[in-house]
Amino acid sequence: MAVYSRTPLAFERGEGARLYTGDGEAYLDCMAGIAVNALGHANPILVKALKDQAEKLWHTSNIFTIPGQERLAKALTDASFADVVFFTNSGSEAIEVAIKTARKYHWAKAQPERIDIIGFDGSFHGRTLGAINAAGNPNYTEGFGPPLPGFVHLPYGDFDAVKAAVGPTTAAIILEPVQGEGGARSWPEQMLRDIRALCDETGTLLIYDEIQCGLGRTGKLFAHEWAGHASPDIMALAKALGGGFPVGACVATAEAAQGMTVGSHGSTYGGNPLAMAVGEAALAEIVKPELMAHVREIAGFFTQQLSGLIERFPDVVQEVRGKGLLIGLKLKTPNREFMQHARDNHLLLAGGGDNCVRLLPPLNLTLEEASEAIGKLEASCEAARAKAKAPQDKVGA
Ligand SMILES: *Cc1c(COP(=O)(O)O)cnc(C)c1O
Repeated sequence: MAVYSRTPLAFERGEGARLYTGDGEAYLDCMAGIAVNALGHANPILVKALKDQAEKLWHTSNIFTIPGQERLAKALTDASFADVVFFTNSGSEAIEVAIKTARKYHWAKAQPERIDIIGFDGSFHGRTLGAINAAGNPNYTEGFGPPLPGFVHLPYGDFDAVKAAVGPTTAAIILEPVQGEGGARSWPEQMLRDIRALCDETGTLLIYDEIQCGLGRTGKLFAHEWAGHASPDIMALAKALGGGFPVGACVATAEAAQGMTVGSHGSTYGGNPLAMAVGEAALAEIVKPELMAHVREIAGFFTQQLSGLIERFPDVVQEVRGKGLLIGLKLKTPNREFMQHARDNHLLLAGGGDNCVRLLPPLNLTLEEASEAIGKLEASCEAARAKAKAPQDKVGA
């Protein structure tokens, strides 16, 4: 189906932060499959985990015990607020589980009227019907039938609106602690704590979508950890969890998951042995304190260098935002054009809402590679500036 606006650029292989075309042209990958290849391409640890498992067992069924699931679930719960885990194949599926878990919780507590899921402008939760309704972005819901009942949308970052909206039919609040696709916007830490407190007062469940901002991307294992006492009840993960192998997870407290009893949900592939082997190996790398320190160091370098970029190119770059290695550049020239300028300089960037481009490099990007990325961004800014000036020159001439 013609659903993607694809660039005519194909890659044959990758290594670390580099992607190579069939002709052997190298590109510096600062989008990492949209925050998926967190440990770089063809990471030997992940390759080995996948190969070893591939020779033993690919798939059984969730009617059997899957030891890899038990191990990865233990690693995830040891490292987070959560007690229980459901494994999926994608982020959207993890969001579906999160929404179902929240509604079923209130049903199990004899409050079946509590079905409303409160979401925010600029959020992205995936492309299933539930996920597009939770995010409420009209670009993604238009043409797909009437809005589903039980979803409420509020402006981003307005705590008074949240307070006013939470009522007797509210089931849960869903948000990305750092919005990804919406343009790398980080929720104020105090507001996350306020929302947590409001949820506690009103018996509302708090769902975080950390599919993009979680798993080390911001320099802590989970982005909400920056806010201190603001843990959710339910959290959706995916992207970096498999480092490129499709796997997602919905993690929750035992309290929040109490409605999810035998038969409440299921998946044929979710948590299959291949996914679990890679997920276990990837998570073991990501939880390492050295890696988190490295992310913070590289992020600090980017912050400093990018503020220099704004000074030199105020006509191109308006603002730098985001957290850790989820970096957004809000541009004054069209972001799609800027991505092409970057590709011309063999640098790969992701797009984003609000006319942003995003840098989402592998978490193990080296300082030399980060510095190379800055050079390529400078060249891209020069090209954007030249392009913006060109039509005026013609008018003048
Ligand atoms: C990518 C993403 C999703 C959707 O994940 P899929 O694997 O594409 O279904 C949901 N939420 C956020 C924040 C994401 O970045």
